[in-house]
Amino acid sequence: MKKVITRFAPSPTGVLHIGSVRTALYAWLYARQHKGSFILRIEDTDKERSKKEYEDNIIDGLAWLGLVHDEFYRQSERGHIYKKHLKDLVSRGTAYISKEEIKEEGQHAEVIRFKNPNKVVTFRDEARGDITFDTTELGDFVIAKDFESPLYHFAVVVDDFEMGVTHIIRGDDGISNTPRQILIQEALGAPRPVYAHLPMILAPDRSKLSKRHGALAVTEYRQEGYLPAAILNFVALMGWNPGNDQEIISLDEMIKLFSLEKLQKAGAVFNIDKLKWLNKHYLKNLSINEARETILKYMPVDLKEKAEANNELFVKIVPTIIDRIATFGEVASLATEGEFTYFFIDPEYSKNDLAGKDEQSFEDIAKHLDKVVNMLNSIDAQHFTAEVIKTALWDYATEAGRGRVLWPMRFALSGRSKSPDPFILSEILGKEIALRRITHAIKLVTA
Ligand code: GLU
Repeated sequence: MKKVITRFAPSPTGVLHIGSVRTALYAWLYARQHKGSFILRIEDTDKERSKKEYEDNIIDGLAWLGLVHDEFYRQSERGHIYKKHLKDLVSRGTAYISKEEIKEEGQHAEVIRFKNPNKVVTFRDEARGDITFDTTELGDFVIAKDFESPLYHFAVVVDDFEMGVTHIIRGDDGISNTPRQILIQEALGAPRPVYAHLPMILAPDRSKLSKRHGALAVTEYRQEGYLPAAILNFVALMGWNPGNDQEIISLDEMIKLFSLEKLQKAGAVFNIDKLKWLNKHYLKNLSINEARETILKYMPVDLKEKAEANNELFVKIVPTIIDRIATFGEVASLATEGEFTYFFIDPEYSKNDLAGKDEQSFEDIAKHLDKVVNMLNSIDAQHFTAEVIKTALWDYATEAGRGRVLWPMRFALSGRSKSPDPFILSEILGKEIALRRITHAIKLVTA
């Protein structure tokens, strides 16, 4: 069997977008599955619109996602190859130089036109079945401005031929280009590759996908703290499924299960909540150390310094942070809202806050917190876990009223209306800090 060769062929006229990632992923998966080659080909024949920064963005984005290519080409470096084929077609009369009048300027220019055999072309699309097109309406279309400047269609066909591409997997905007490309292929004597055109990605309201619906460039997802595994899982299932309702799928499984037959015909819908949900799933699978490293990157500098200086405590907070976020980007906003500060700095608050909604007297608060201090004191530092603390306090809290005991305790520890429960907080802060903060609260209400 022939070696499978697929390609991802972006034009560097914009950054790598989530829709293009899907095209790249499917081509990559198909190559991996068949132990073939995956080509990255930068289609920069449009010199005005192509930019190096976009090329870099595309290459970096793919590398970050782990979609590594086996071969790399730039069309701007392949002029001699297109020229050879252009000369060949012209010498055989399949293409010809045509003098054209440029209307507005009354000048003449030359272009190279393809001599259209005017026929009906039928090709099989793996996603949609047979597609038939009468090429007569294309006329003798232009394939190059001159021998040095091939147009897009010509360069694509020459490249796919020269690079031995066996499967063309691309967006469905490529469908209308295919008949023209097949004519050129036949003129070059190139074999016809297998085609699979992917359905459009639509916004949830089935309108055109845009930033407004949360669709961003890959670099932006990266900045917002999405994980490559979540993005790949997400795009994989926009337009393909393994034939069941499986929502979590690893790259290895995709390589095993991917198939062109299971491509969807209907437009795939982009759902940012699904991506967040997947990201949360993959966040939870990170090791504490990976999570710790990444959270630090997203923390404001002052907090980051405190976290690094109190590493033992910080490591204990990591799971509670992971619990509260869907993307690492949310760490920054939680931090600005003061959600982590109290772990590192004793909180400040007014004694009225300690009463909570029960509005109990300061005397009662002092009485309950005294009791809490006594019980915490009776637990030794090594066994100071949420479980043990809860067991020690539970009966008393139940008898006196849980809110009456646990609210002031929790508030004394965090100084906030919302925070993890007082048992977890006590464990994270440790015996010494927990006792210090509760004792301070007692002082406040008895002063
Ligand atoms: N360079 C084209 C684009 O970025 C894709 C060409 C192809 O896949 O055949 O739209």
